Amino acid sequence: MPRSSIAVCLTCVLVTSLTAQEPTEWPQHSLTRPKPVLVHPGPAGPPVPAPSDAIVLFDGSSLDAWQRDRPEGGAVPWRIVGSALEIVPGSGGIRTKRAFGDVQLHVEWRSPNPPAGNGQDRGNSGVYLMGHYEVQVLDSWENPVYADGQAAAIYGQYPPLVNASRPPGEWQSHDIIFRRPIFSADGRLAVPARMTVLHNGVLVQEDVLLLGPTSHMVREPYVAHEDALPIMLQEHGSAVQYRNIWVRPLATPSPSIPESP
Ligand code: MG
Repeated sequence: MPRSSIAVCLTCVLVTSLTAQEPTEWPQHSLTRPKPVLVHPGPAGPPVPAPSDAIVLFDGSSLDAWQRDRPEGGAVPWRIVGSALEIVPGSGGIRTKRAFGDVQLHVEWRSPNPPAGNGQDRGNSGVYLMGHYEVQVLDSWENPVYADGQAAAIYGQYPPLVNASRPPGEWQSHDIIFRRPIFSADGRLAVPARMTVLHNGVLVQEDVLLLGPTSHMVREPYVAHEDALPIMLQEHGSAVQYRNIWVRPLATPSPSIPESP
């Protein structure tokens, strides 16, 4: 076995052994799965300043980093309201022009107030890493839904550890540390994607191993893809607003094996 293959396999073992949240045995979208307990995160503050090495994706005015999420791209079909970017329901999602792999991503969002709709129809949007792996955006304030579909869930896979939602109309944040999946040369999964997420500064996903791309009512298997792909924001029929989005690309750690004595 080539040295690089040995290194990847050892990385798989290491990754698996270090997982804090175990993969679920609950059926997807189970209504009886325990709901995360409520944690009040404290009041919303001003926008969190971007670190000096961050790439600012949305600063309240410029949409230069974004395009329509269609094969041909095109102008962003959402609208600027004040210093926020508001989804136009029915217009489709948007994606970054630039592609990313491993990242630290900061996103601020808020649900429409007064709220409209119930369950998944109330303030639904989503942050898709690499266009495939969704961290849920939803109005989860007094809005019961299946646990793996509420705000800050890794949709259809992992409920958040707690429900740290603020009421509709208040700014909230997702801070996401994402490690992309690694595929071997023959297209097989070598290392699954993993994520840590803070919702309003509260830890809600701790180094979870993603089971594959996120999807509704079905667990999709991994399919080999590029090492870098755009970040996508979902349009799901609700006028959710975004502000202050920035990203720090992270170097992908090199797999290593111990030196022989
Ligand atoms: Mg969504």
